[in-house]
Amino acid sequence: MYDVIVLGGGPAGLSAALYAGRARLSVLLIEKGAIGGQIVQSSEIENYPGALPQETGESLIARLSAQAERFGAARVLDTVTAVSPEGETKLLTGAKGSYRGRTLIVATGAAPMHIGCPGERELVGKGVSYCATCDAAFFEGLEVYVVGGGDSAVEEALYLSKFARKVTVIHRRDALRAAKCIQERAFAEPKLSFLLDSVVEELRGDGLLERMTLKNVKTGALTTVAADEADGTFGLFVFVGLHPASELFAGKLDTESGYILTDESMSTNLPGVFAAGDVRKKTLRQVVTAAADGAVAAVSAERYIEAAGL
Ligand code: NAP
Repeated sequence: MYDVIVLGGGPAGLSAALYAGRARLSVLLIEKGAIGGQIVQSSEIENYPGALPQETGESLIARLSAQAERFGAARVLDTVTAVSPEGETKLLTGAKGSYRGRTLIVATGAAPMHIGCPGERELVGKGVSYCATCDAAFFEGLEVYVVGGGDSAVEEALYLSKFARKVTVIHRRDALRAAKCIQERAFAEPKLSFLLDSVVEELRGDGLLERMTLKNVKTGALTTVAADEADGTFGLFVFVGLHPASELFAGKLDTESGYILTDESMSTNLPGVFAAGDVRKKTLRQVVTAAADGAVAAVSAERYIEAAGL
């Protein structure tokens, strides 16, 4: 029986584990894959307070992870498939075993959304990607398209311009959503261009991505983009937002559009269950707000244990 079980090892979960460990609570952090969450895929962290120059998601997480470990958080790599968070003991069941906690902090984050067009699923890893840091090097010297107009799309398009011959951002509206400072850098990058009011309708390729159909949402006009003959393929990086990883808690925790509802102490509708980071309904999804959520959730868990005399 742990005082605190933290589900998810991104910035929110690691910060929660760090704070709970410092409060001398026994902590188990459960992560299903590699530690770090989405941020390890970020090529550049410019806006986390105190970030080092040339900080990447990976370097930041490596330090945060070591810091959480120093304060005694135990860790297990497991995929949790069932949860019973309602009672005094929170029970989580995974492929490798069952875990019991007096409190539970849900920090499961969010995952990239797909465009949902024909051909997308078949061509993942064959030209279609959701991670620039993972796959940019495969497109050295080739043409690359990026779908989306938010911070991720424009930042990752800038990163991809270090590898690709040409990068085109395809955005469904006539104005970008990304922060102004990111837009300014993008407009100053000569390898980057923008195709606005456009959506991807279909992707095609025999083994590798070779053609795509685009639609102008204002005129309805369809155009085809074909791979340069000498290249044989091109890259399509998709950054069209996130969906919260809250399915395990469906019908148990209150949510809105899948995002878990909490109050400002990160408490959910269930006593002893807290949520932190991108899986939570909130206005700003950043590493700094995820870390802050994790800290608040851990302190709230500590207070809950004290108040309940557990
Ligand atoms: P986001 O901010 O939700 O942006 C998603 C973009 O994709 C929007 O431009 C949206 O268009 C477009 N889109 C959505 N569905 C689409 C579809 N089916 N087809 C085509 N386009 C579609 O997502 P994000 O950029 O992944 O960012 C997620 C969160 O992380 C945000 O809160 C963001 O601020 C944060 N973030 C921050 C940083 C940073 O601070 N450096 C970096 C990365 C991410 P519309 O604009 O028309 O809605």
